[in-house]
Amino acid sequence: AAKQLGCNQYSYFTPGIREEAHLRHMLMRDLSNARGQRQFRLYYQPIVDMQSGRMLKAEALLRWLHPEHGLISPDDFLPFAEDSGLIISIGDWVFNEAARQVAQWRTLYVSDFRVSVNVSPAQFQAPSLRPTDWLASLQRLGLPGESVVIEITEKLIMNAAASVGEKLLQFRDAGVRVAVDDFGTGYSSLTYLKKFDIDYIKIDRSFVNNLATNLDDRAVCEAIIMMAHKLGMKVVAEGVETAEQCKLLVEMGCDLGQGYLFSRPLTSERFTELLRGPLATPEQVQTH
Ligand code: C2E
Ligand code: MG
Ligand code: MG
Ligand code: MG
Repeated sequence: AAKQLGCNQYSYFTPGIREEAHLRHMLMRDLSNARGQRQFRLYYQPIVDMQSGRMLKAEALLRWLHPEHGLISPDDFLPFAEDSGLIISIGDWVFNEAARQVAQWRTLYVSDFRVSVNVSPAQFQAPSLRPTDWLASLQRLGLPGESVVIEITEKLIMNAAASVGEKLLQFRDAGVRVAVDDFGTGYSSLTYLKKFDIDYIKIDRSFVNNLATNLDDRAVCEAIIMMAHKLGMKVVAEGVETAEQCKLLVEMGCDLGQGYLFSRPLTSERFTELLRGPLATPEQVQTH
């Protein structure tokens, strides 16, 4: 995704072997200064109601605007952030920035707008991630819990650690919604989805990719949608790129869609234009 957004970002990541240790060292140094230097940006990608065409949600996606290397995508630096523990501070920034932004959008444009925030397993399990801190931020902004969705992974909910369940419960008790990201790539069981009272399942884009030609993938999507609905959960299809994929998903009863067909991730400025303009109204977002 971010590959289209920046030009110089590869310089960090395709070094000769000799330079690798050096570059890694510089990356860590730069990463630890990035928050203080205000180099992080959140991009927002619309999540569209596939039946009505309305855009009621957005996923916040982190980018690092490096002064020399340009826009760096999360897959390229989050692993380092996780290893070093920097993910906690970065994740706090992400949450607070997304909350600040959704508060503004709710006040100015769409009163029930929601923003979805990714939380990686290492981040969620860290003792220093405290739901009470995040909930206090929402309260300060006058936001109800339901204005935020946290996206976790199957891997996390399969971790039986009591602390994981306890944290999820704290969020849920405050009305925060929970989505399971990249669903189908891990190995979660239905029991866990029920136990944690998950609100949304996001079908991984690897199943959506070949929907038009691959009958197995189609069957997987159908089964996930049916199961999710039986369990009272809504389904988001990730990586919807073509009208044909969209049409098939609508026919299967998929609730929500996200992908390049609707929009790429946008800067907050561009996303605000989208909310201000005709795209926020039902007729204009093309889902068929
Ligand atoms: P994800 O949560 O599964 O996010 C969806 C990814 O798919 C995003 O990549 C998005 O740009 C990309 N995408 C959206 N629509 C399409 C499409 O139609 N086709 C294709 N090929 N790709 C599409 P991105 O922004 O590079 O993020 C990658 C991953 O990094 C995310 O996957 C998420 O796991 C992680 N991430 C992003 N932001 C954060 C963050 O703030 N905190 C944490 N912990 N993780 C984050
Ligand atoms: Mg996500
Ligand atoms: Mg995903
Ligand atoms: Mg992912």
